[in-house]
Amino acid sequence: MKKIYLDYAAATAVDPAVLKTIQPYFSLRYYNPSAIYLAGREARSALQKTRASVARNLSAKPAEVIFTAGATEANNLAIQGLMKNYPDAEVLVSAIEHESVLAPAGLFKSKKIPVSRQGLVDLTALQKMISDRTVLVSVMMVNNEIGTVQPLVDIAKILNKSRKSRKTKLPLLFHTDAAQAPNYFDLSVGRLGVDLLSLNAGKIYGPKQSGALYVKAAVNLRPLILGGGQESGLRSGTENLAAAVGLAKALEITAKRRSSEFRRVQRLRDAFVRGLQSSVPAASVNGSLRHLAPHIVSATFEGFDNERLMMELDEHGIQVATGSACSVGSDEPSHVLTAIGLTEAQARSTLRFSFGRHTTLRDIMQTLPILSRLTS
Ligand code: PLP
Repeated sequence: MKKIYLDYAAATAVDPAVLKTIQPYFSLRYYNPSAIYLAGREARSALQKTRASVARNLSAKPAEVIFTAGATEANNLAIQGLMKNYPDAEVLVSAIEHESVLAPAGLFKSKKIPVSRQGLVDLTALQKMISDRTVLVSVMMVNNEIGTVQPLVDIAKILNKSRKSRKTKLPLLFHTDAAQAPNYFDLSVGRLGVDLLSLNAGKIYGPKQSGALYVKAAVNLRPLILGGGQESGLRSGTENLAAAVGLAKALEITAKRRSSEFRRVQRLRDAFVRGLQSSVPAASVNGSLRHLAPHIVSATFEGFDNERLMMELDEHGIQVATGSACSVGSDEPSHVLTAIGLTEAQARSTLRFSFGRHTTLRDIMQTLPILSRLTS
């Protein structure tokens, strides 16, 4: 049975071109970039080129890119790294952030910005919540469970206005977790108006445990990992050159394909949603399509248990998620779904379908009648 993979928001296969590019760094070019003989200097130069390449994709400067082992670490470095400088200050996070933002924010004084039924951050509430004690606002670019694209530019404008009227010397910085964004959205940090941005290679056809944090020049973070002082002192440990090269190559490829993939995947998504509406009466789609990224559909199947439905789909070779694959073994209903107003029962009846480079219309057309049968 050919598998139908509809869980691209959880993991993507490494692109063959990425694999080919990183392979030599495990064998021929394994050298430590801190070694001072020629091969070590070549490794350092490759690391610099790689940093410059990632920076180009963000319209940032190379020195503003810190390589990490994925988005979880980047989110932790952004939030803990900043808040440790201001332990009495406050961080605001959207109520639908990934756990890797919520958990570090929870170590400090933090508040959750409410979201609408569509999963959009409530801008009026945000404006009211910013106080002279707020030093960081963290709102993700694309939500990983329902796919909402947040109005980052509008949020940045609110922060700019607040900065001008504040009576404090504390900074007011803007962080975004962009782990789900690069395949479909431009990441120019200046245009977005962010000071910190987290990236992940594992969702863009690059290696897992590879990512980066953009840290705007002059933003002062404290390191979480101490040691030899690599990555401008922010992330000690011998650099994982293969992982960094993998991120850079994956970003380069996905940026080239971005606009055509956006249109192609959106067409598939729309066909899937139309099919759900016409042939799966139990299904209702969460969020409104005009605010959603093209690759994620969250649908509630009222009266059906999502884990059971997911297992039944798996028996038919269709791989989907019950929510975020990133909260391992959690028994709680999704905080994202309850934040947009779903009941616990509705949250436990919700599946996430996510599409990507290898999804075809045929996959969609084969999935719909099976879903229809399982929920009638
Ligand atoms: N943030 C978002 C929005 C995600 O979707 C994920 C992973 O699913 C992460 C963070 C964590 O990324 P990583 O697994 O690279 O640590």
